[in-house]
Amino acid sequence: MDAHTLTAELKRPTKGHELDSLFKPRSIAIIGASSKELSIGNVIIKNLVQYNFKGKIYPINPKEPEIRGIKAYASIFDVPDHIDLAHVIIPGKFVPQIIEDCGKKGIKSVIINSAGFSEMGEEGIALQKAFLAKAKEYGVRIFGPNCQGIINADSEFNAYCNFTFTYPKPGAISIVALSGGVGAFIMQSLFDLDIGMRYYASNGNACDISISEVLKYYGEDEGTKAIILYTEGFREPNEFIEAAKLVARKKPILAMKSGRTEEGAKAAASHTGSLAGVDIATELIFEKTGILSFTNEEEMCQAAMAFSTQPIPKGNRVGIITNTGGPAVIAADELVSAGLKLSPLSETAVARLKETLLPEATIGNPIDVVATGGGQHFRSALDVLMNEETIDSIFINFVTAPFTDTDEVARQIVEVSQMKRKPIVCNFMSNLSMERFQVTAKILKDGGVPCYSFPTTAAKALGALYKFHKIQSRNIGETKMFDDVQKTKAAEIVHSITSTAKEGTHFLPSSEVYQLLSAYGIPVADWRVANTLHDAVVAAQEIGFPVVIKAEAESLVHKSDMGGVAVNIKTAAEVKVTVEGMKKKFDKTCLKFFIQKFVPGGKELIIGVTAQRDWGHLLMFGMGGIYVEVLKDVVFKLAPVTEVEAKEMLSSIKAAKLLDGVRGQSGINRAAVIEIIQRISQLVTDFPHIKEMDLNPLMAFEDKTIVVDARIKI
Ligand code: ADP
Ligand code: MG
Repeated sequence: MDAHTLTAELKRPTKGHELDSLFKPRSIAIIGASSKELSIGNVIIKNLVQYNFKGKIYPINPKEPEIRGIKAYASIFDVPDHIDLAHVIIPGKFVPQIIEDCGKKGIKSVIINSAGFSEMGEEGIALQKAFLAKAKEYGVRIFGPNCQGIINADSEFNAYCNFTFTYPKPGAISIVALSGGVGAFIMQSLFDLDIGMRYYASNGNACDISISEVLKYYGEDEGTKAIILYTEGFREPNEFIEAAKLVARKKPILAMKSGRTEEGAKAAASHTGSLAGVDIATELIFEKTGILSFTNEEEMCQAAMAFSTQPIPKGNRVGIITNTGGPAVIAADELVSAGLKLSPLSETAVARLKETLLPEATIGNPIDVVATGGGQHFRSALDVLMNEETIDSIFINFVTAPFTDTDEVARQIVEVSQMKRKPIVCNFMSNLSMERFQVTAKILKDGGVPCYSFPTTAAKALGALYKFHKIQSRNIGETKMFDDVQKTKAAEIVHSITSTAKEGTHFLPSSEVYQLLSAYGIPVADWRVANTLHDAVVAAQEIGFPVVIKAEAESLVHKSDMGGVAVNIKTAAEVKVTVEGMKKKFDKTCLKFFIQKFVPGGKELIIGVTAQRDWGHLLMFGMGGIYVEVLKDVVFKLAPVTEVEAKEMLSSIKAAKLLDGVRGQSGINRAAVIEIIQRISQLVTDFPHIKEMDLNPLMAFEDKTIVVDARIKI
């Protein structure tokens, strides 16, 4: 340990979390500080000062004695104090050396704002590797490079370590965004909605400190009530899934689904890979981990407003209080479509309201206190709903009728809201260019009542709170491992293909496909492979008529389209006719005959699997035939799939009712299908080599389900 390191070691304060040096810095060095007004090295200092940073600022610049009136140092080694955090805004080639210096100085976190690394090809990648090696050596954590930085809006810190321009007021929402652009506009939206923010982090190339790590940090932070997440794909999906699961159990994570295009969905063909579209995996990860996903960024920010002050409802029963009719109807529609329910009031509640409200008030759900209703009427309705056991949340529609004391109404709403017994959202209808109503609005805002200017927006926000309740109370259970599977046998089959095949992906021959399925306990129709007519007849007799004959050759993908499937073959004579017909139709050199038991009359189902680059597998379930071809009525889940999730798959397809049988048709044995889904999930989890699988169709009956066509690509 040299002298520098030693002094730094001695001066370093003891800290709790490793990322505290990043998010709660007490002293910040700006390496590459500049006196040029329009430079990042200047703007960051300006931001720190204007945002009233509570710690010390050390501009580092070898030539300038001071920058923006703050004493500058030629090198970090000249700074007499310990430094928690450094910004690095210098050309890439100097960065590895600077990181080493930071390490020696005992700096624990570095935000590299500079670009020119992994996003810039070979040379940049090498530089990134070089500074990362130094960082590892000295235990420096890197944020970025090619990033904005962080903000801690807590007034104890006021650390604006970022070059953006919006100065958020302190609050309870923390943002983590891979893209600085999206992060900045979300921050701006919260600001425009007058919602406070707590932490902000945008980590660009994210070479060291990951989104997952920041997420966990926010999860442990008591001051963060809700998290807004924006990411474009995941570098380490498993790490992310673990982190998100952990955090989402404690607090809401709101995220944008992006990269989802119509094209993705339209590109759907008959097999799983294309049905999955491009970015379905992100959505499935959100679903699995319990992240609230939004397709509209404004809706997301509006929901964040409710999350930042309101408790989570304990159920779906909502009570509406309004002082004007129509908007409550609009709200009710939206609330109901978000899964909420307007439950009737108890006799006690009705009696109490009759006593306290104006005679012209409507008593029911909604409660219409009428436009002439004042503070005490709103209060009475609020108290009644708070005490109703059958009400979990309250929707207020409040129009500022000029003949009432609107400030008093607002004060009553605030008072009840601050008891935090049940969540309240408010559609606030007013003319905010009038000073009088600005006062009313401010009472509500300052009192933490989430106010919206459209009934639908307010209802959607309440819907999001309820959705989080559902997420918190959902338990997908553990993944079941079937111990009767023959993993070794399956491994031999997979190995026999991977060891002999050429590079690239291959379809397994039918015999291997069906053996693999059987090894994992997945029921398949009895089968044989025959090379000659004679073998085909013997095979059919062994299996027992009626049988199905399918032409098998590597070039044959959709067999039936090409006349390669003959069903309901009842006699040896028919086998002969069929086999000879196929010999004429197809190239004889590698033609084989797949003889299979004919199992007519079942409902045709499809189960598919597709491997995503770094994600593991997506499982798909749907009804086969036209349902998949035309209606694309399929659902996806991320493997491994639990029993609860498999059940959800069956009940979430549009044609779910058909599974139970309609109009005299018999239903299928759901349990059998649920088990097959789980077994397939185990198979592909055990063998990541499997790139694609299509079981299409499985024949589902009242008692059993049998695979009659399967393809596997490895
Ligand atoms: P491909 O999908 O390559 O065209 P399949 O093997 O799926 O060929 O056969 C096409 C259709 O024939 C199936 O969707 C199913 O309706 C029917 N079929 C295939 N095998 C059987 C079988 N063993 N029992 C009953 N019907 C079958
Ligand atoms: Mg098929």
